[in-house]
Amino acid sequence: MPYKFTFDISKAPHHFFAEIAVASYQRGVHKVFLKTLQDLIRKFRIQEATGLNIQDAVVLIQDLIDIQASNLMLRKSFLQTKKRALFLPHCSRKYMDSRCKAVFDTSIPSYICGHCSPDCEVNKADQFAKQQGYDVYVLPGGSCVPKILKAHKYEGVVGVACGEEVKMSLDLLKSMNVRAQSVPLLKNGCSNTVFNIDTLIKTL
Ligand code: SF4
Ligand code: SF4
Repeated sequence: MPYKFTFDISKAPHHFFAEIAVASYQRGVHKVFLKTLQDLIRKFRIQEATGLNIQDAVVLIQDLIDIQASNLMLRKSFLQTKKRALFLPHCSRKYMDSRCKAVFDTSIPSYICGHCSPDCEVNKADQFAKQQGYDVYVLPGGSCVPKILKAHKYEGVVGVACGEEVKMSLDLLKSMNVRAQSVPLLKNGCSNTVFNIDTLIKTL
């Protein structure tokens, strides 16, 4: 499920994400207070940068903090996993039309990147992850995840998606005893979306 709002925080300063990380440590101890969220939103002018109203901005920042907290909690056990997969969102492909040379294989179900563009983030992520021994899937939606997990019995999964999709998949992965790490999209909208490739590389 996509968010009901669009956002772009891909240009947010580095120390914004550092403060998200700090808040996520606190999140391990207690729920982050609304005031903390509102302070972050005010300090980094998230509403001005994204055009979001305060309720949507709170949802977005809370999700980023929750995802980071989940990553921290599961990091150690994720690092112990051997059989791993990377799930990438199809919306981060450089092209969403016929210029994208990925082929969708319904039997998997996943797009198979055709490596048409060296600057495509999905291409970069695909190549790096495969070098690290990951199986890579480029998914049109979270509904593909259960079929893949049932077929392959992965121990660890790294997923890139918008916060809503990440949170839904985390529940499923937990129920199947798969250790997960997530990289949230910094720009949503279901096409031309953006994630931080450096964050993904560190996570892998
Ligand atoms: S590099 Fe791969 S995912 Fe990106 S546009 Fe080309 S075929 Fe599609
Ligand atoms: S932004 Fe991407 S990951 Fe999120 S719902 Fe849309 S297509 Fe899926």
